[in-house]
Amino acid sequence: MVFDDNVQLVTRCPFCSAEYDLDGAQVIGEENDATMVYITCSECASSIIAIVAMSGLGIVSLGLVTDMTVEDTKRFNKEKALTGDELLEVYELLEKQKHKALKQLTKSQK
Ligand SMILES: [Zn+2]
Repeated sequence: MVFDDNVQLVTRCPFCSAEYDLDGAQVIGEENDATMVYITCSECASSIIAIVAMSGLGIVSLGLVTDMTVEDTKRFNKEKALTGDELLEVYELLEKQKHKALKQLTKSQK
């Protein structure tokens, strides 16, 4: 993955605000222009899945807090392939309906 310098990635842990060591980020899925990355905080060991996607407006990224292990995410990824469109859908859901997003996401994960 090569990113432009002005691209704003998820760089801080949402729990403890520690800066992520992105060298330790693991790419768990790539689809079209979207890349899913698993990052574990070296300070508090909490994990997020970050999605980086190309959209019409440029590169967008978002982080989802997860308690899955990287093995879980890989297994999950294999079972149901995500498309770039789906990743963008999640992004838009989080952007526009932050309050509903969690409910919707947890509902659809059954
Ligand atoms: Zn942390």
